[in-house]
Amino acid sequence: MSGEQVDVTNHDRLSALGQRVLAGGMVDREEAAFLFGLRSTADRFDLMAWANRIREAFKGNKVHLCSIVNAKAGGCSENCRFCSQSSFYQTGSPKYGFVDPEPVAAASEEANANGVTAVGLVAAWKGLNEGPMLDEVCDRIREMAAAGKVRPDASLGIIKNPRVAERLKEAGLECYGHNLESSRRFFPTHCSTHTFDDRLETIRHLKAAGIRICSGGIIGMGETWEDRLDMAFTLREIGASVVPVNILNPIPGTPFEKLAPLPPLEILQTIACFRFILPRQEIMVAGGRTVNLRDLQSMVFAAGASALMVGNYLTTLNQPVERDLQMLKDLGLDPDWEDHGFEGQVGAAPIAFKPRRADAPALVD
Ligand code: SF4
Repeated sequence: MSGEQVDVTNHDRLSALGQRVLAGGMVDREEAAFLFGLRSTADRFDLMAWANRIREAFKGNKVHLCSIVNAKAGGCSENCRFCSQSSFYQTGSPKYGFVDPEPVAAASEEANANGVTAVGLVAAWKGLNEGPMLDEVCDRIREMAAAGKVRPDASLGIIKNPRVAERLKEAGLECYGHNLESSRRFFPTHCSTHTFDDRLETIRHLKAAGIRICSGGIIGMGETWEDRLDMAFTLREIGASVVPVNILNPIPGTPFEKLAPLPPLEILQTIACFRFILPRQEIMVAGGRTVNLRDLQSMVFAAGASALMVGNYLTTLNQPVERDLQMLKDLGLDPDWEDHGFEGQVGAAPIAFKPRRADAPALVD
């Protein structure tokens, strides 16, 4: 940490904004630009202290845990330049067709044993239409919902037909992951096979069907602070319930393989700014956490994050879930076993989760 002093003017302005958000108010774009523009280490820690207070006020000591299953891997028709699963790039990433019931049941069981609230089925394809594949996807969702171990989530790409969203809802889907990835301005820099508007249209269909939205993006792709600010405000406008913040993990073979990693304090500042802009949402630190933050991982909560993607990511490894659970315990935080604090709920009541398995590994005091 530096020996810099907190700038008194910045400190006073931060205090005023923090108190306003704590009282239920919002920050506007100009105020958010001030937050993103703080540069000294002292000011950044001051920002995080307020983001932490806002997290505590709206989320208490609960941390929402999610995990994912790579339900269909590789060979994707899209050209997202960060993605190892695109068929445009040679990355050596695994390829297989849509997953059978057994691995999904095993992942749900393991997730439940570790206090994970939701498991998302994630498929590497452009999107989903009516047809046999939608039938199969709905079967997996129904099986997960019937088992009652975890909330079945899904991230299945672009939806053009509103009936597809309705079918997913009827099968028991409550929450759909569909990242904006970046700002409208920056989006064409990392993808040209579909558009920002395709993504917004998908989210409209899902919301109309009564499905909650998990949507965020990836930082560290060469975007500006303004792009991150724009993305956060778009996420506020669309009413995202969960906002994943992924940090680019440059994959060899992708066009972004040589991008320089973001400094950890810049990542933490971004999370803190998101907490100010999205005070009630679950801000979930997802892909790229361990490789980019290293020893500063546990500081994501002090920066305002309230949710964590645990277990392995789609094509890269994460630290073992036991270490994440120990990290939460050491910080005085609890996994949100019963999905409390899931904001922006629309439609059906949350499903009843079975409590954490009695034979789950004990945590060290
Ligand atoms: S649509 Fe998804 S799986 Fe396909 S290339 Fe883009 S990020 Fe990867």
